[in-house]
Amino acid sequence: MKYLSCRYIEHGMDFEHTRLETCCFTCHSGGGHITLENEYSGEPIDWNELFEKKRIYRQNHRNGILTPNCTGCVFLEEKEWDEEDYINYLQFNYWIACNSNCTYCYEVQHRKLFEKIKPYNSVPVLKDMIEKNILRPGGEIAFGGGEPTIAPEFEDIIKLLSSNNFKNIRIHSSGIKHSPAMEEAIKKGVLNVVISIDSGCEKTYKQIKRVNAYKKVLENMKRYALANQANNGLMTSKYIIIPNVNDNRKEIDLWINSVIDCGGKWLALDIEDVWYKTNRTTISSYYLDLVNYVIDKGNANNMRVELYDRALGLKEGKNYL
Ligand code: SF4
Ligand code: SF4
Repeated sequence: MKYLSCRYIEHGMDFEHTRLETCCFTCHSGGGHITLENEYSGEPIDWNELFEKKRIYRQNHRNGILTPNCTGCVFLEEKEWDEEDYINYLQFNYWIACNSNCTYCYEVQHRKLFEKIKPYNSVPVLKDMIEKNILRPGGEIAFGGGEPTIAPEFEDIIKLLSSNNFKNIRIHSSGIKHSPAMEEAIKKGVLNVVISIDSGCEKTYKQIKRVNAYKKVLENMKRYALANQANNGLMTSKYIIIPNVNDNRKEIDLWINSVIDCGGKWLALDIEDVWYKTNRTTISSYYLDLVNYVIDKGNANNMRVELYDRALGLKEGKNYL
């Protein structure tokens, strides 16, 4: 039977700071906080109980009752769903600590609140999922945070996943700390790292990130990009346009040239979230021109350009938030 649902309700799980959820898309319209476990900090999971909650969400959707936070979400699709109990979309977002200090970061702005949260380790649960065939290849495994590479268990997680045939692993990183396990997984062609740099020179980098690590990030971008040139370099360099800071062609040219120098072939672009949401209805065409400029310049250099939600919304004249 066809019904409106999404891959995360059906087969997703997201490790958050203090909860288990179906997805981490709290920024999308509707979006997020579809809870699987209200209080969670790394304990063993009762899978029968967890999948029972998913069955309730599924049954509601089948009956046309949308989970309120899902209303309007871009991931909803009407189709026949595979109703077997397993997870193949797994998200890791429970890390809080970071080695960068970005001006626009929600976690930096709410550091006091996050300081009270106790860190946990997901490796035992991950092993349990693999042993019980609950976690299956074929979907996507995504890491956000915080900065994943500074979590003590990060190297073990990547080795565990790549040695168990998981592909399509996507990691968002500050790029400040090199991860040998991540470089190995890139070599195997199973992992794509998205490095947030937001700048084309040391001065702008420091202004946005408020740490001294520009050269280190370039060095790591290069190591990851060169690790698998056969696959077009599984390193994406990400730039968030921040009004009055890096919103100009000169900075964007420097950025794209630096990615080319590193051997990188993939770009990702977004617009600063709070500014975008505040000004969404009055944003001048200057910003759409800037988005198109990145697309054109990327294409001219045979680079893939991925637009994240705000940049995509601007480009398509839609609201994905
Ligand atoms: S519909 Fe959207 S918000 Fe709801 S679970 Fe799916 S991805 Fe998350
Ligand atoms: S790299 Fe990400 S988590 Fe770290 S401070 Fe910047 S936005 Fe926040």
